[in-house]
Amino acid sequence: FALYHAKARRRGSSTCFAPEHEAELRRHADVEQALRRADLAAEFHLLYQPIIDVADGRVEAYEALARWNSPTLGSVSPADFIPVAERSGLIRDLTRILLTKALDTMRGWPVERRLSFNLSAHDIAGPEGVDALTTLVVASEIDPSRIVFEVTESGLMRDLVDARRALTSLKALGVRIALDDFGTGYSSLSYLQRLPVDRLKIDRSFISRCTEDETSLNIIRSILDLCRHLALDCVVEGIETVEQKRLLRSVGCRSMQGYLFQRPMPAEAIAAFDAASGPGMIKHQGREGQPA
Ligand code: C2E
Ligand code: MG
Ligand code: MG
Ligand code: MG
Repeated sequence: FALYHAKARRRGSSTCFAPEHEAELRRHADVEQALRRADLAAEFHLLYQPIIDVADGRVEAYEALARWNSPTLGSVSPADFIPVAERSGLIRDLTRILLTKALDTMRGWPVERRLSFNLSAHDIAGPEGVDALTTLVVASEIDPSRIVFEVTESGLMRDLVDARRALTSLKALGVRIALDDFGTGYSSLSYLQRLPVDRLKIDRSFISRCTEDETSLNIIRSILDLCRHLALDCVVEGIETVEQKRLLRSVGCRSMQGYLFQRPMPAEAIAAFDAASGPGMIKHQGREGQPA
């Protein structure tokens, strides 16, 4: 997509274009080529970012976020490689490998701790998509109620009937569904009516503006009301400042995620983060002498 933008920009100013556009163009072609050659299991890993209940400071869940260390390209952002993986048909292989890693990592976690895992709309298109995910979850023997699959509304709009079928069968397995980046799609409300979702994640763009812009804050307030009326839980993502945290807490947000609390971190750092979070938890761990 960005590649087409780069091309369009180039054509628009055919006599003269900034060298970084040329570089961007080459970069996207390189990503596709490197991805096709990649050893997915060796080159990709997950970082984990906590979702915090700010009422007591405890970690509710960790969201797994994919990272790629390419031997030829260095580190590549998911914003760059996910769309390429989707276009090139590699996304399902990648998802299978990443979900297997995440479920394995979960084995060391306390039983009340959830995993939030991002799915692409391509992962759940057609019955085979859900079957593959179901097989992995069942084989892991992890209680499916501890798993939240995050899907973005923009990805689902291509085929709402198929999306409904897919999410319904995932829910029958016992997992929960979150609508990610809520509020950025074209028909957010009709998704809520038609898709079996449990939680909304309010898009970061509203959060980043909420302290300066009354409208953004009012939109967040309205989404919180909507969640109350529909019995959905709600997460605000992208909290970066204490001011944002205070303001959002004052309008009723409890579940928060963002750099203010913790940037995405390697699985090995989770136990230490758990030990430091939530006053009740520290006491509990002190008594038990091991990770909760
Ligand atoms: P997302 O699922 O909405 O994840 C949130 C993104 O915001 C992550 O970027 C996270 O690192 C970043 N973030 C978290 N807190 C803050 C904050 O306070 N400020 C700012 N500015 N950013 C924050 P990341 O890891 O680069 O991932 C980008 C997107 O790529 C994700 O958005 C998700 O849509 C997609 N993605 C990541 N991992 C996977 C994956 O394993 N599978 C699929 N299908 N998509 C993935
Ligand atoms: Mg997400
Ligand atoms: Mg999001
Ligand atoms: Mg996003």
